[in-house]
Amino acid sequence: MTLPAVEPAHDASFDPASGERTGAVAHSTGAEVGHILDSANRAAPALAALSPAIRQAWIAAAADAVLAVADELVGLARAETGLGVARLEGELNRMAASARFYAGVACEGSYLGASRDDLDGGSTLVRWNIPVGVVAVFGASNFPFGFGIFGHDVASALAAGCPVVVKAHPAHPRLSVRLGQIVRDALLNAGAPEGTFDVVVGFDSGLQLVDSPVVRAVAFTGSQQAGLALVERGARRGIPVFAEMGTVNPVFVTPAAAADRDSIAQGFVDSFTLGAGQFCTKPGLILVPAGHGFAASIAEAVSRVPAAPLLTAGIAAAFARGIGELNPHAAAASAPVKTEAHPVAGYEVSPRTIAVDLAQLTPGSRLLEECFGPVALVVEYDDPAAALAALDRLQPSLAASVFTGGDADTDADLAVAQLTRRVGRVAVNTWPTGVATSWSQQHGGPWPATSRPEATSVGGGGLARFVRPVSLQNATSIQLPLMLQPQNPWKLPRRLNGRLVPFE
Ligand code: NAP
Repeated sequence: MTLPAVEPAHDASFDPASGERTGAVAHSTGAEVGHILDSANRAAPALAALSPAIRQAWIAAAADAVLAVADELVGLARAETGLGVARLEGELNRMAASARFYAGVACEGSYLGASRDDLDGGSTLVRWNIPVGVVAVFGASNFPFGFGIFGHDVASALAAGCPVVVKAHPAHPRLSVRLGQIVRDALLNAGAPEGTFDVVVGFDSGLQLVDSPVVRAVAFTGSQQAGLALVERGARRGIPVFAEMGTVNPVFVTPAAAADRDSIAQGFVDSFTLGAGQFCTKPGLILVPAGHGFAASIAEAVSRVPAAPLLTAGIAAAFARGIGELNPHAAAASAPVKTEAHPVAGYEVSPRTIAVDLAQLTPGSRLLEECFGPVALVVEYDDPAAALAALDRLQPSLAASVFTGGDADTDADLAVAQLTRRVGRVAVNTWPTGVATSWSQQHGGPWPATSRPEATSVGGGGLARFVRPVSLQNATSIQLPLMLQPQNPWKLPRRLNGRLVPFE
């Protein structure tokens, strides 16, 4: 008797447009993950000792290598995510530009927090930030480049001087492995030590990373459920898990903004259906003044948006479940378009809105939790004060938008002030979906938007997650780190006896 062949553990690759399996990538074995971690651990001291400018050259080489095979990578991403070519090309180019940005942030040097005090009696005290060591990164399904193998978390950890081991997301395993190979080879060819960067595949490999004593910090982008599981797991060893998760990002439209009804309605629909609604910054709820026809204008705009595939069978199933949970609360729902008109292909779904009452936005309600995919709640209000009060009952979120009637709009001023206390970023008269990589970006927020409200996963502040401060008292000059030597060889801004001294 021949036994049926048992397929080795793997992440299967699927075409979201058809649901067909197109390949598979074997899971890393425990021994392979162990070897990668040992190698990363050995690389950590060298990375930490080198100047940010040297790491900048490596990161630039990796960005160049990725851009050199952009067509191949976009093709792989397209096949595994069903996202559009233009969207993926833009995301890949932004990934490369962001990597260079983080390397530049490291060279600017303020993230090192170098300071020196001369104490009474001729003694000295210096303080600066050192890289934490090996960082494990869990990328997200919905940004195969931006929050993937060489995305924000990876590039900012490398720039800060930490070796990185990335857990491939099963929504795009073939892309993850290929991109990982290109980045690893480019870093090594540019002179980075063996172990600077690697990729592992499989759920158990991810757990092995979090449990390994070698790993000193975890950066995660994904669902609240998985983020919470990893935060709890990391807490057993007392290591920080920077989990950036998904929330319902609210939009408040003031009565004075009603004159722009149709453009706001169209902008809202464009924003919540972007990438089939699979953005962590998706505006999931809009509060609009009653009596101005917003609901009808939004429904009209939704009816023009075609169905699109979600990323995975699991996300499609969760979307169907989520709609079922939200619908019992609905006062009205815009009918899903197209799916009735033709058979559903792959993981395709149609966008929709669900109308609910202001009074239903109560803590603990399912309405306040993210439904990943192209759905949003529409809430009409009569009294702006009641709408502002409802904003305070929502879960804290990554982002929010306020649409105003101009500069003299008190409702808008109140909403901005109120939302600032509850979200990571408030966008005025613009949509929250786009996230610029820049010094002033905050992509985070209070729980449950993230597990670490002081952190950001995008922007110049992102490096702070991967360093920790240390002081040296009464050290000889040879014992001082290079950045605090009198000649300032890394040309950094430093705080000397309390005064910030830029390098000139
Ligand atoms: P997910 O299901 O949360 O999974 C992310 C990663 O975590 C995967 O590699 C997954 O591995 C692993 N994982 C899941 N459960 C785990 C557990 N219990 N223990 C250990 N590892 C676990 O990912 P997703 O589908 O990408 O999630 C979409 C969510 O991400 C949305 O809510 C979206 O809003 C959010 N998101 C947030 C941001 C942000 O910046 N804040 C950006 C993009 C997306 P396996 O799949 O192998 O199990």
